[in-house]
Amino acid sequence: MTAAVVKADGYGLGAIEVASALAAAGCRLFFVAQLDEGVALRVALPAIEIAVLNGVLPGTAPDFAAHDLVPVLNDLGQVAAWRKLCRDAGPRPAMLHLDTGMARLGLPAAELAAIAADPALLDGVPLRAVMSHLACADEPAHPLNAEQLRRFQVARAALPAAPASLAASSGILLGPGWHFELVRPGVALYGVNPQPATPNPMAQVIALKAKILQVRDVDRGMTVGYGATHLVDRPSRIATVAAGYADGLLRSLSNRGSAVLGGHRVSVVGRVSMDLITLDVSSVEPALAQPGALVDLVGPGHTVDDLAAEAGTIGYEILTALGRRYHRVWR
Ligand SMILES: *Cc1c(COP(=O)(O)O)cnc(C)c1O
Repeated sequence: MTAAVVKADGYGLGAIEVASALAAAGCRLFFVAQLDEGVALRVALPAIEIAVLNGVLPGTAPDFAAHDLVPVLNDLGQVAAWRKLCRDAGPRPAMLHLDTGMARLGLPAAELAAIAADPALLDGVPLRAVMSHLACADEPAHPLNAEQLRRFQVARAALPAAPASLAASSGILLGPGWHFELVRPGVALYGVNPQPATPNPMAQVIALKAKILQVRDVDRGMTVGYGATHLVDRPSRIATVAAGYADGLLRSLSNRGSAVLGGHRVSVVGRVSMDLITLDVSSVEPALAQPGALVDLVGPGHTVDDLAAEAGTIGYEILTALGRRYHRVWR
């Protein structure tokens, strides 16, 4: 079974729109990170199953029950809180997250051992899944992958039978031995390459365009933008485009990013500012570089991964940083 991860507002693309489309395509189980995200998704989609990765913080168990959300239990305190809720309000499913090498969320080895030694700690709690998360699945040759798989299999054997889940996007590409009963892709659904060292098997799902506001001729010796970081070394044409770091074009794209205009690759020159970037469009025929023309920030010739590489980050950060000012269309 494939569950869809739609945390962080569907990786910045709109959790409700994304989940609605995936539910229409047959997806039945969704993961979010936070309780509030689960509540918002529940209101929009009453019939799907929603699991919340960040777990049950003290005092929140009744909210999970009220909105029919499945908590991912990350420590023995959360296990106890859910056991109490199940005792008081009737059994409701939860997932159990084991830490097999990430040291982030999930039961550490000692807490797993406590459950193995005293299965009554899970009494009355229907286990929807036992899960863990891989630290290095984007590097297929990393030895921690096999080690986490081994630890996960050992841990599972010590627990009541339940569907198992280990793989997120990159883990799925490690092969069928990693799939178990449930996989949890996020970024792959959004077209980002889960294993950047090899060609992307996923199709790009987003396009991002911004408008040219002004085009100007600049002479040799002039500088462009804040800090005068770009020195014009030959007569050039600069297009000012209406998107900046407030829209998620990270400031690290200053003098490093690029875009596509009329099929030509053009470079970001000068610093990215809050609302604007400046592009050197000298190589583009003037009829194409006009106020109102759309520049492709992400498109077939310049992917989310390309933009991420230019910014010195990963596609996840590019998507989740996308600002709220874009006019968004879901097809
Ligand atoms: C975010 C997350 C996922 C999805 O990860 P991707 O790399 O985007 O596929 C799956 N499982 C857990 C526990 C996560 O935190």
